[in-house]
Order: sequence, then structure tokens, then C-alpha cells
Amino acid sequence: MKTKGHPKWHPDARVTCACGATFTTGSTSPSINVEVCSTCHPLWTGQQKFLDTAGRVEKFNQRAAMAEKKKAEAATRRSRKAADAEAAAASA
Ligand SMILES: [Zn+2]
Repeated sequence: MKTKGHPKWHPDARVTCACGATFTTGSTSPSINVEVCSTCHPLWTGQQKFLDTAGRVEKFNQRAAMAEKKKAEAATRRSRKAADAEAAAASA
């Protein structure tokens, strides 16, 4: 093995998961932070879970709520217009 050109090897690099689990592995960096590990990944836990690191689920829910609101507004507008048309037809 060349003495130069190889990064420093850490045989006991500590991996820290967002779920709190830690374990060691071999790596060129002394510590690694991960969002998901075999302790909390849905494949191993068998539970559905959203891996949401950028607030995407929250954003989607906000957009869905806004769309529902807009739909309701449009429906009331449409029914009001229909009522006005009926009133106009009755008075004419
Ligand atoms: Zn984990």
C-alpha cells in the first residue's frame, strides 16, 4: 500500500442516526450523521413512516388545504351566481 494518496482510515467511525441509534463502521471520516438506519427504516420496522427532511409533506398538506379552500370558494361563487340568475329570471 502506498503511504501517500490514501485517506486516513477510521476503523471505528461512529454513525449517528436521526432516530438516536448509533453504531460503528469503517470509514474515512471519523463520524457520520444519517437520517435513516436499519433500526428506523420502514423496511425493517414494517411501519409506514414519512422520511421528511425538507418539510415536503407539510408543504403538500398546506397546498392540498389551500386547494380545498379555493374549491369551496368557487362552489359558493357558482351557487351565488345561479341564485342571482334565478332571481333575475323571476323578476323579469
Ligand atoms: Zn435510525
